[in-house]
Amino acid sequence: MRIVGIREESIALEGDISNSVISFNGHDVSLVAVVSDVVRHGKPVIGFGFNSIGRFAQRGILQERVIPRILKAPADALLGNDGLDCEAVYRLAVRNEKPGGHGDRASAVGALELAFWDLKAKLADEPAYRTISRHFGTTPAKRVPVYAAGGYYYAQDGLDRLRAELEGYVDLGFEAFKIKVGGASLKEDLRRIEAALDICCAAEKLAVDANGRFDLAAAIEFGEAIEPLGLRWYEEVGDPLDYELNRQIAGRYSGPLATGENLFSCQDVRNLINFGGMRPDKDIFQMDAGLSYGLGEYARMIKLLESSGYDRSFAFPHGGHLINLNIVAGLNLGGCEAYPHVFQPFGGYSPDCEIAGGFVSVSDAPGFGLETKPELRPIIERMTQ
Ligand code: MG
Repeated sequence: MRIVGIREESIALEGDISNSVISFNGHDVSLVAVVSDVVRHGKPVIGFGFNSIGRFAQRGILQERVIPRILKAPADALLGNDGLDCEAVYRLAVRNEKPGGHGDRASAVGALELAFWDLKAKLADEPAYRTISRHFGTTPAKRVPVYAAGGYYYAQDGLDRLRAELEGYVDLGFEAFKIKVGGASLKEDLRRIEAALDICCAAEKLAVDANGRFDLAAAIEFGEAIEPLGLRWYEEVGDPLDYELNRQIAGRYSGPLATGENLFSCQDVRNLINFGGMRPDKDIFQMDAGLSYGLGEYARMIKLLESSGYDRSFAFPHGGHLINLNIVAGLNLGGCEAYPHVFQPFGGYSPDCEIAGGFVSVSDAPGFGLETKPELRPIIERMTQ
């Protein structure tokens, strides 16, 4: 088996929504196609992957540095005992890159490495979660806990709009939810939380996400205001690399905290564990393979969590899409988020992923099943030509 081509397309995200810090208007995502010389049903077998949402497409790094390194490698350098060696892909992709300062490079490599996982699963003619569980020696889950991540700030916003949005998620079968906070005054955000609770019915079903907006004083003030509510978790309270802030909040806020989506390496996670005050019995880890060099580095993070006294059931990766659904199911993690209606064409799942009773089922489509998502299919077909 040889790789005969690797393509990248930068795909614009649809929608004009904001969290407390950024607008996603103008954001895009790198979709990577890895073309093999294996032909089935008259067509080459192609793996697809994308970097996660919120960090822009990585065309330059992919096309000028990362992809040429893979294409120059001898064919057998990409093969291991069980077919494609995705760890070798990672090692080749970061060749001659200094350690640390990960930045956009981490999501560029993530998109490429994940495309190789999709290809590996398709060559085995099985869904990626099965390939992943076999490779990492885990017990796969056919259904995993899920929550709808929404409640963004809209240009035309209001409490009725927020209630209607969450009611729409209930109609889709979701039973747990997350909304954004920190983008309005404390008073207004508390009104938003109250409106969301009208729909969620139970506070333990509703998480809030500040997207790193608060300094310590604001984080404490907000935490004190929501603590009596008993919400599911209080997410990314301050700057993701301000471990001292996280430690201080963990010492004051009695409910669960969640963070980690903007950590890009195992060493970042080690620092969070060593200095961030994360509590093994309640706090949530949200690292995301598509933002942090791909599945291999992500699996090393999970191993590190477990060797440090944390449980993988507290891992809920950032990014509500088909790739992370397969990773959560394959590694048997705590659960995943979903982006129903937002961040198209990448957000959310395919119609054959059933959502019911607080769970989502993984489909049996080969690979990550990106071809089964109606919003992605035409783009993938175009890249397959
Ligand atoms: Mg978040």
